[in-house]
Amino acid sequence: MTGRIFDIQRFCIDDGPGIRTTVFLKGCPLHCKWCHNPESISPAPHLSFLQEKCIGCDACIDVCPKGALARTSSGKAILGRQYCDACGACAGVCDTKALEMVGRDAAVEEVMAVVLRDREYYQASTGGMTLSGGEPLYQPAFAKALLVAAKAEGLHTVVETSGFAEWAVLESILPLVDLFLYDYKETDAHLHQAFTGQSNELILENLRKLHAAGARILLRCPMIPEFNARKEHLDGIARTAASLPRLAGVELLPYHRLGRAKLQRLGFLARMPESVKPPDEHTVRGWNDYLTRQGVNLR
Ligand code: SF4
Ligand code: SF4
Repeated sequence: MTGRIFDIQRFCIDDGPGIRTTVFLKGCPLHCKWCHNPESISPAPHLSFLQEKCIGCDACIDVCPKGALARTSSGKAILGRQYCDACGACAGVCDTKALEMVGRDAAVEEVMAVVLRDREYYQASTGGMTLSGGEPLYQPAFAKALLVAAKAEGLHTVVETSGFAEWAVLESILPLVDLFLYDYKETDAHLHQAFTGQSNELILENLRKLHAAGARILLRCPMIPEFNARKEHLDGIARTAASLPRLAGVELLPYHRLGRAKLQRLGFLARMPESVKPPDEHTVRGWNDYLTRQGVNLR
C-alpha cells in the first residue's frame, strides 16, 4: 500500500499530546483562502524553488523540456511557473536543492519506519503519530493503513481533519483514532463555501456523528482577520461546543504569517492578501475571554 505524502515531521508538539511524528498527506478537497500548506491542496507533486540557493550552474535549464527555466542577469536561474508541468527533471539535477519536488509516493512500511524511530519519546511523553495534510482522509485507504500499522505497534494516534469526508470513511477509522483534531472554520454555510470552496453541511453532520459515536474530539478553530474573525462566528463556536458535551475542548488558532518564506518558494505568495495581518495579543485574549464567558472549555 502506497500513498502520496509531502512531509514527515518528527518531534512535533502542537499536533496532539506529547511528542509526535506528523505525517502530511497530499491532497485536499477544500481550498481555504488562508491555507498555510497550499502545496498540499493538489494531490499532484509541486515544484519548490528557492532562488537564494541557486549557484547558476544552468543544469536545470538544460534539462527542462518546457523551457520554464532561464538565466537572469545575476547568473541565477528564474522559474516561469506558468510553463512548468512539475515533471521534476530540474529537481533531479539541482545539487544545491534550490529546486525540489514537494510530494512523493511512499509505502506504509517506509512511513512507519520513520515514525517508529521515536517510539521511546512517545512513551515518555504520551505522544505518538499524527496524520495531517492536506486532508488525510482524502486518501482514505492509505490513511487507514497507516493507522492500522500504528495501532499494531501500540502507538497513540491523532487525525487532523477538516471533516469533509464520507461518513463511511470516518466510521471505518473510528476504532483506530485516539483523538480527532477537527477543524471548525466558519459557522455561516455561505461564507464557509466562499472561504473554503465547500459548504460546511457535511462537516457539521460528521462532527455530530463522530461525537455521538464516542470519538474524542478537540475542535480547532482558525481565526483569520478579514475572514471569520468576528463575533457571529465566535457565537457559532460557542453554540457548537455547547451542543457537544463530551468535546475534549476548543482551541483557537490565530492567523500568523510564519510561512511567508515557504509560500514564496512555492509560488503561492499572492494567495493571501497583504492586508491580512495577524491579530495582536489583546485581540486574541478578547476572543478567548469571550468564549470562556460563554462556558467554552478552551485549550
Ligand atoms: S540546477 Fe539548481 S543551482 Fe543549478 S542553475 Fe538550476 S536552480 Fe540553480
Ligand atoms: S519541473 Fe519540469 S517543467 Fe517544471 S521547471 Fe522543472 S524541468 Fe521544467
